[in-house]
Amino acid sequence: AIAVEARDVVLSFGQTPALRGASLSVTRGEILAIMGPSGSGKSTLLHCLAGILVPASGEIHVDGRRIDTLSETARSALRRDRFGFVFQFGQLVPELTAEENIALPLLLGGARRTAALAEARTWFEPLGLDGLERRRSGELSGGQAQRIALARGLVAGPEILFADEPTGSLDSLTGEQIMELLVTAARERGTTVIVVTHEARVAAYADREIIVRDGRVTSLVPERIGS
Ligand code: ADP
Ligand code: ADP
Repeated sequence: AIAVEARDVVLSFGQTPALRGASLSVTRGEILAIMGPSGSGKSTLLHCLAGILVPASGEIHVDGRRIDTLSETARSALRRDRFGFVFQFGQLVPELTAEENIALPLLLGGARRTAALAEARTWFEPLGLDGLERRRSGELSGGQAQRIALARGLVAGPEILFADEPTGSLDSLTGEQIMELLVTAARERGTTVIVVTHEARVAAYADREIIVRDGRVTSLVPERIGS
């Protein structure tokens, strides 16, 4: 079954075309890497698939239902209830503790604080973060923050995890650890994962990789393009 699909998606920022007819479908439970040069439209495509941006033309479908025509309120509810997100640099709330950051999606979903924090704490040991539960996230290292961000993206059991350069600010060893954790956690839960990356060693963890070039999706390997 198809989890997410983009059909001929077009989107510009003012005069700058970002997507020029991008099409893509992702199977449920699949781990897909979106690769391509800087500025090719990878992040914009991810944001369209996740219902953050609305295309000027084309369609986005999630589980066979069109989402780009939904209201902002309905798309925001969809993101909260069924999607998880991991961004570059983690984007944690620096004043909150590590456990509070992980608990955020549960709290937004209406969980009680005690239950949400208890669930959040179960993520520290498997991620190798024991003892950091009460640390303010602004005081964590880059690799620690990225693991917290990963837990926050998965804690509410999303059907689809959207990750934008989740290893972008890390050295390659930590980056590989992040991908291993992400893939393991996703497989255990049957989560569909869509990860934007410019690193081949990150994409190697995916079931499939696609290349975005000049706002369109191609399945060609990058070496072949333009050669
Ligand atoms: P990638 O993720 O592949 O680096 P992006 O999707 O971020 O590419 O950007 C695609 C194009 O759209 C680029 O030319 C970029 O500069 C432009 N762009 C992206 N976001 C914005 C924005 N918020 N405002 C203006 N231009 C943008
Ligand atoms: P990524 O590294 O994921 O490709 P970027 O560093 O290109 O993302 O962009 C980071 C943020 O800045 C995004 O929210 C994107 O929409 C925005 N952005 C990218 N290019 C531009 C631009 N030319 N003008 C304004 N905002 C932009």
